[in-house]
Amino acid sequence: MRLDVVTIFPEYLEPLDVSLVGKARARGQLNVHVHDLRAWTYDRHNTVDDTPYGGGPGMVMKTGPWGDALDSVLADGYETGSREPVLIVPTPSGRPFTQELAVELSERPWLIFTPARYEGIDRRVVDEYAARMPVYEVSIGDYVLAGGEAAVLVVTEAVARLLPGVLGNAESHQDDSFAPGAMANLLEGPVYTKPPEWRGRGIPDVLLSGHHGKIARWRRDEALKRTTRNRPDLIESCDPKAFDKKDREM
Ligand code: SAM
Repeated sequence: MRLDVVTIFPEYLEPLDVSLVGKARARGQLNVHVHDLRAWTYDRHNTVDDTPYGGGPGMVMKTGPWGDALDSVLADGYETGSREPVLIVPTPSGRPFTQELAVELSERPWLIFTPARYEGIDRRVVDEYAARMPVYEVSIGDYVLAGGEAAVLVVTEAVARLLPGVLGNAESHQDDSFAPGAMANLLEGPVYTKPPEWRGRGIPDVLLSGHHGKIARWRRDEALKRTTRNRPDLIESCDPKAFDKKDREM
């Protein structure tokens, strides 16, 4: 998968060299390009923003640098064989970023991110590229960050761990919170590792029983309890057919 990020703070993306994403890059599973938007400014001050039409506080990012940057990134990608780009525009007014969307994006070969600053990017940029390729306006939560770079890190990490061969154990994301399948949209329950006792605290006996059926049932019960406590909205949106008789008695 190819990833391009255009930003006025390229150094903000340095964590993409670390841990899981860094290893995926080193192994060639992810091909990451971070670009400085100011490379596509032509005035002495490398201006990327201007006052908003209609007045009001704050500044808006200008069409010119974004258009030139995205044209150049697209030309480079096509030249080197990348195809089917998708533009990801981080914005608090976008659709919520979910595990389902992470799965969808992990199946695309080329993602281009446009993290903004100030009051965001002149709308015409999104409209222009939406006429040429799929555009996802994505919010990572109901709060406002100072810029979209942190959102790029969030989306990239969630997507990268789903790529084939990136996680050591491919099954480990299948039991995650929100994963489609047996635990359909439930949060994952508590997890434990050695030693079996720590500061007088043991672990649930069932986890030592070696009985796979009972362990699976216990995990599902705990997932249901945790989801009911922390995210009742998820329970309400579950398909009732996903629950069995024992679930309904809880
Ligand atoms: N005026 C904008 C609004 O109210 O929707 C907020 C602009 S914010 C200060 C600057 C940039 O940070 C946004 O354009 C976006 O790139 C990024 N950003 C802020 N909050 C975000 C969120 N919850 N999800 C994704 N990106 C966000």
